[in-house]
Amino acid sequence: MDSRLEAVRDTVLARNPGEKEFHQAVIEVFESLGPVHDRHPEFLEGAVLERLCEPERQIIFRVPWTDDAGRVHVNRGFRVEFNSALGPYKGGLRFHPSVYLGIVKFLGFEQIFKNALTGMPIGGGKGGSDFDPRGRSDAEIMRFCQSFMTELYRHIGEYTDVPAGDIGVGGREIGYLFGQYKRITNRYESGVLTGKGISWGGSLVRPEATGYGTVIFAQEMLKTRGQSFDGQRVVVSGSGNVAIHAIAKAQSLGATVVACSDSAGYIVDEAGIDVALLSQVKEVERGRLTDYAARRPGSNHVVGGSVWDVTGTVALPCATQNELDGDAAAKLVSNGLIAVAEGANMPSTRSAVSVFQEAGILFGPGKAANAGGVATSALEMQQNASRDSWSFEHTEQRLTEIMVGIHDRCAATADEYGAPGNYVVGANIGGFVKVADAMLAQGLI
Ligand code: GLU
Repeated sequence: MDSRLEAVRDTVLARNPGEKEFHQAVIEVFESLGPVHDRHPEFLEGAVLERLCEPERQIIFRVPWTDDAGRVHVNRGFRVEFNSALGPYKGGLRFHPSVYLGIVKFLGFEQIFKNALTGMPIGGGKGGSDFDPRGRSDAEIMRFCQSFMTELYRHIGEYTDVPAGDIGVGGREIGYLFGQYKRITNRYESGVLTGKGISWGGSLVRPEATGYGTVIFAQEMLKTRGQSFDGQRVVVSGSGNVAIHAIAKAQSLGATVVACSDSAGYIVDEAGIDVALLSQVKEVERGRLTDYAARRPGSNHVVGGSVWDVTGTVALPCATQNELDGDAAAKLVSNGLIAVAEGANMPSTRSAVSVFQEAGILFGPGKAANAGGVATSALEMQQNASRDSWSFEHTEQRLTEIMVGIHDRCAATADEYGAPGNYVVGANIGGFVKVADAMLAQGLI
């Protein structure tokens, strides 16, 4: 790392003890930014990095709720409003027992650069709760969402902060959150949340967007080497919203997706995953991959282990942070891998990224490769602002243009800074320069 940035890094680490995922995300970005500061001494003079690493506002609140038996539970809610240089804070809410401030801050920090790369007018933020939705009834989920919004509503708004989904928060939760926001404020403010239902202000393609976008990004990377998805053998991790639509898109481009996973294990389906069955099991029935294997002849369920043991030419990590470590990366490389695109946020550890880069594997980092979700949220905001709704074809076309644009900007920025083919450098510098310029233009705030 550039020595001028080390002191800033040390301050950030000391000021935020124990937030190891946030530290990881900060270090990973700083490692790319030395050359930018040679060309832009004004960023050092303006202490842009110091300001960027300190969220503009952090909200932590109590979320009390009752389960179906009438028992009282208390969870912790978070919203980190990280950076508004480019637009209202924008980013999802994650409901998962692993959520604490360090997770929300790593996600919010990543979101700043990701959102900048989309070219849309959106700042960076993230939120969530350590609430565990697994096994909870619809009524319990609704009461939790209502309680969560009873505090959150005072901090958000169409021009202020626009949450959406992430792990554990999908269309059902956004519906309950929106209903409570509307009830408390007495405003039908469509643009306050994205990921809404299609009949009440949502956008077509938003459910598919993250997974589709990841595959479009990977396809653009493959093209730079004269390759395509046709005939590739693809391994996906996860089996939620991002994974399901990544699988569908990869297969529509001629690939065979042979594996995906959940927290209990993974399935191998040599014939190619049956997306309709996977979606029925995971999204409609909220079941497990064992249910898929039981209904799909020829597929195998493996308990525990790692989905990265499955041989593939393209890997799409679409589960969660740090799910792919250096050993898994080395195994994938020795099994003939040519490309990785991250559908999840920071799924590869720093040592995994080094393994991929040293082996010359095409590697698309999450802040570029999974930006299709938030980009389509920005398209949803556009439709809401103009009280319009676009066709699937038009919206998908916009998503494709945005993803190709992100790919090309990352590639051009990497070239410009002497690191051709390095999408990590391209994404970090491309996102950073845009935010840094806007921060300096807006004065010391
Ligand atoms: N949670 C998603 C992400 O990681 C989407 C956020 C949004 O649509 O605002 O980018």
